[in-house]
Amino acid sequence: MTETAVTLKKFFETARDGRLTAIKCGRCGNLEIPPKEFCDACGQRDWKPLALSGDGTIASYTIIRVAPTKHAGDAPYAVAVVKLREGVSLFGRIVDIPLDRLAVGMPVRFRPLVIRNETAVGFGPA
Ligand SMILES: [Zn+2]
Repeated sequence: MTETAVTLKKFFETARDGRLTAIKCGRCGNLEIPPKEFCDACGQRDWKPLALSGDGTIASYTIIRVAPTKHAGDAPYAVAVVKLREGVSLFGRIVDIPLDRLAVGMPVRFRPLVIRNETAVGFGPA
């Protein structure tokens, strides 16, 4: 068992319920999502959970036209790096936004996706 308050498993369990949780370093205040073992900024492991609003804007995106075998039936679809209001960025799949309307800076909101029984991070219209 790890001492980390928010494990990757727990992150996806709460994400499945529609809640995004980041971890905040108790030493330097650095935010990380999804959770990791040690702080990138100061190398410590002193995490506190921090609930996120789920609101953000698209920082960059890519349209996947030839998907990995597992997701072949879903193509084309878009994946994006979303900068959340709290300042951390998270990678996820775009849902319910027409691909030709996607733009950097577009507001989006976190939405859990369950793809073949695995929880994944998605973002839909804000
Ligand atoms: Zn730190």
